[in-house]
Amino acid sequence: MSTETARVPSLPGDRLEQRFHDKKPPYDEAEAIAEANRCLYCVDAPCIKACPTEIDIPTFIRKIATGNVKGAARTILSQNLLGKSCGQVCPVEVLCAGACVYNDWEREPIRIGRLQRYAVETAIAANPQIYTKKPSTGKRVALVGAGPASLAAAGWLALEGHKAVIFERKALPGGLNTLGIAPYKMKADESMAEIEWVLSLGDIEIRQGVEVVSEAKTPGQVSVASLCDDYDAVFLGLGLGPDSRLAIEGEEGSGVEGATALIERLKADPTLRLEGIRRAIIVGGGNTAIDITHELALLGVHATMLYRGTEAEMSAYDHEIAAGRIDGVNVVCSRIPTKVVRDENGRVIALRVARTENKRAVAGTEEDLPADLVVVATGQSRLTDLARAFPGVELDARGRVKVDAASHRTGNPKVWSGGDCVNGGKEVVNAVAEARVAARSMHAFLVGGG
Ligand SMILES: Cc1cc2nc3c(=O)[nH]c(=O)nc-3n(C[C@H](O)[C@H](O)[C@H](O)COP(=O)(O)OP(=O)(O)OC[C@H]3O[C@@H](n4cnc5c(N)ncnc54)[C@H](O)[C@@H]3O)c2cc1C
Ligand code: SF4
Repeated sequence: MSTETARVPSLPGDRLEQRFHDKKPPYDEAEAIAEANRCLYCVDAPCIKACPTEIDIPTFIRKIATGNVKGAARTILSQNLLGKSCGQVCPVEVLCAGACVYNDWEREPIRIGRLQRYAVETAIAANPQIYTKKPSTGKRVALVGAGPASLAAAGWLALEGHKAVIFERKALPGGLNTLGIAPYKMKADESMAEIEWVLSLGDIEIRQGVEVVSEAKTPGQVSVASLCDDYDAVFLGLGLGPDSRLAIEGEEGSGVEGATALIERLKADPTLRLEGIRRAIIVGGGNTAIDITHELALLGVHATMLYRGTEAEMSAYDHEIAAGRIDGVNVVCSRIPTKVVRDENGRVIALRVARTENKRAVAGTEEDLPADLVVVATGQSRLTDLARAFPGVELDARGRVKVDAASHRTGNPKVWSGGDCVNGGKEVVNAVAEARVAARSMHAFLVGGG
């Protein structure tokens, strides 16, 4: 793993994600103004309450309608520094747009995400300097992980004049925003462009290829103790750990992939090719499962999502399942995998599954479903060991970092946390909302009031 201090690295060409088309392409000015003019600028607007970052949606939409795009972007970014990517990736159907009053009349809700993307992208393209940072305070903050939580926290802290140093163990920054989001919503280079803008806000440095560990032993590692000693405050934006496993016979070996690991390769690894993969079975019923199933279907693979419960019990969003079906996603419910079947050369040829009742296998109901690839999308582990290595930081029974809800401060007075490692895995907008709470509390502490 190389140790590197850099701004945003460039992505290799010829990645599979480049084959995807944007499902919600950016608006041009006329489209944005027409859509903005549909908004009723509701008093006590329900869309604001449904946004985890509480963006003043009617105000930014009105600014778009009156041609004040920079003002619209400021309204968004003051609440959500990653307003550009959230405009692309937020599940607006279950958040702001899902709460829009137009739904009550069975009419198309305002396309808030697309308007948000338009405002932020247009304003930054015209002049990236939307904000001016405050003079340096001389304080230094370390942030672990370069995902949305740390990036948002770093951006806000840097605007207040603090130096932010982000440690990221991977070669690319952005966490799942760069390496996990479905490429028909946002591609890795779009995430990187947003990171470039965040870095321009102030004194922010990302150290890529540097892993924070309990005890540093090799170059490319930095120890928990050195962060606690060398910095005035620390933010943990660890995200979640590796994909869970099925723990069934035949799982070890090629032809069985973890969902987030495969999506990461699809987005960033030019060596990934799917030639020879005609049928894939994706095990899981959540949003990661529907995402990778949809992505494989769009790449021409016969992709089937297999879930042990009923369709109503799936945690994947209904709108994502419906959109996937249009593109060829198959869904098989009430089945549980019991064995990965391989031929004499070790190649995956089928997934053995049993019917279920109440999510448990029913004896004697097994059948083999042909497959060249099995993808495991049953969840991600927690990075509990690292979190625990910070003195005073506690975890709950589900391995989530415990914080004070009002400040996002952990049991260690110098350490704050937010994002997936705290909430157990939600959306980008939740990571940003939590980072904002933490950044405010950290700033108060750094200037002597916390
Ligand atoms: C497949 C998938 C699709 C998703 N799609 C959407 C979507 O469409 N819309 C949406 O809003 N949300 C989506 N999400 C959820 C969203 O991506 C996450 O909620 C969000 O990225 C969480 O941000 P984070 O900063 O907490 O964690 P992450 O994005 O996971 O970032 C954590 C970072 O910390 C780094 N790190 C961890 N340990 C160390 C260490 N010891 N040293 C250094 N670095 C470390 C990791 O490498 C990583 O880069 C999706 C999630 C997945 C898995
Ligand atoms: S609820 Fe819909 S119509 Fe009302 S302010 Fe929000 S986006 Fe506009």
